[in-house]
Amino acid sequence: MDGELCRVCGGDGRIGNSLGRSTATCPGCHGSGRRADTSSRFHDVTKTKPSHYRAPDAVSTGPKGPTTSEGVQLALEVRASAVLNEDAKTRLLAEIVNHESTHGRCTKTFLKKVRKQTRPAP
Ligand SMILES: [Zn+2]
Repeated sequence: MDGELCRVCGGDGRIGNSLGRSTATCPGCHGSGRRADTSSRFHDVTKTKPSHYRAPDAVSTGPKGPTTSEGVQLALEVRASAVLNEDAKTRLLAEIVNHESTHGRCTKTFLKKVRKQTRPAP
């Protein structure tokens, strides 16, 4: 279904000779029938350019990228922050995306609020 069937055996996980009397485990997939190389998939989207991606009826919890230049900049600051742990960063990044989707952009107040958290307390 996923188009990742092994090219060598065609998904059987086995290869046979032309007489069909003996089979051997496929060397391409080691019997799984799937291609081992899936490296082009499932890479995160942090490096893709923001586009007009919208998911109107799906409130995803997974981190997506901000779509506005302010949001992208803010996300960079969050990621680079020395005072936030990974959990906090993930949460803030999600907040940025959420904020953008409800406001259409990052408001000044929001930028200020998030930036405050990316910096050490005075
Ligand atoms: Zn195979």
